[in-house]
Amino acid sequence: MKWTNKGNEKIPFMKVVEAVRQNPAFCIYGAGQYGRELYGLLKEFHLLDCFIDNDKNKQRNGFQGVQVIGEDEYWKKEKRPLIVIAASAENTENIKLHLQEKGLICNQNFFIFKEFINKIFPIIVYFIFGKVYVNLSQICVTERCSLKCKKCAHGCYAVKSDKEDLTLEQIKKSADVFFAKIDYICEFVLIGGEPLLHRQLAEAVEYIGSRYRDKINIFSITTNGTIRPSGQLLDACKRYEVLFRISNYSKQLTKLEKQYQLLKALFEENGICCIIGRPDSSWMDYGFEYLNRNGTEEELINVFDRCDTPCHEIRENKFYFCVMARSVSENLSKNVGEDDYLDLDKLKGPNWKRELLEFILGYSEKGYLDMCNFCYGAECYEHPIPVAEQL
Ligand code: SF4
Ligand code: SF4
Repeated sequence: MKWTNKGNEKIPFMKVVEAVRQNPAFCIYGAGQYGRELYGLLKEFHLLDCFIDNDKNKQRNGFQGVQVIGEDEYWKKEKRPLIVIAASAENTENIKLHLQEKGLICNQNFFIFKEFINKIFPIIVYFIFGKVYVNLSQICVTERCSLKCKKCAHGCYAVKSDKEDLTLEQIKKSADVFFAKIDYICEFVLIGGEPLLHRQLAEAVEYIGSRYRDKINIFSITTNGTIRPSGQLLDACKRYEVLFRISNYSKQLTKLEKQYQLLKALFEENGICCIIGRPDSSWMDYGFEYLNRNGTEEELINVFDRCDTPCHEIRENKFYFCVMARSVSENLSKNVGEDDYLDLDKLKGPNWKRELLEFILGYSEKGYLDMCNFCYGAECYEHPIPVAEQL
């Protein structure tokens, strides 16, 4: 979306804000992995009523120390809270249809996890608490990688092994600038390339963890699982409850399966959480290497708006809406969109929080990124490719 009235754009979901003012409580439908993520967020803002789950065990014992009720109990409540469905894609669809049959309306009485944490929660947090919340942001500590995936969405296969990483000072500055403006984030990620190649990753975790951990729901490192973390890194990750997300490439690179299990055991031994991705998921081809839309302004704004990527990046003072746009442009030497970021240092004046909210919701000066010209965006799902094919 293109800014036409910066700082005063019309914001959607204002009826939801009103409903939350009237009854500041949500039920999370699904006491599992997504429910746990959402629990942290809603708890932080004192907006959690209970979980809804059919699992009788969970109903008996609770989940995350919170009451779990069956759906029947929900309908008996006098003042029924809004619901967020936090389940797998397939279960989400079933629950959604079921709630609609019961007369509830999507985006009015109930919400879907991804859209809620990405688009609706920032609005609730801004208007009810006067704070700035963002769903996800990353620091790419290095563009180097220990693998060479043909279709790496960051274009890391083209990066020379001697390319300079972000220095520790640059990482510190990125975190400082970011948290000077953002009050709370659902997930803050250290990523690459392969982040474990960065020689001072433990210091980076220590710095961010010691200063900003209370502003982060999930502090994570995304790794391809090829490198064993050092003792120093494990210590820092334990101290600051860092979650390791291991991308699962075992279908393509079968020998990695054993490595994942070794890592899992190591993390368990050290009291660190890790999630190994599903092995059967496919990748999407964004078309960065060959697509050129030669789009008009209107077409590119449409591509950007439909894409709705949640993967933002902070790089010193520069807040990029799309980490792929920045990294691919740089790593594949496309060198376009070099000004496609919000300068957080320059964000000043009485209305800066509102401007930042609008940016998070997808507003910008141009309304698109130059890299959208070279990207399938939302259409990428029509172009599935095998996971992690190597060059
Ligand atoms: S492991 Fe990840 S960062 Fe490395 S080349 Fe593959 S997709 Fe890119
Ligand atoms: S369409 Fe634009 S915003 Fe979306 S992933 Fe591609 S470059 Fe990023």
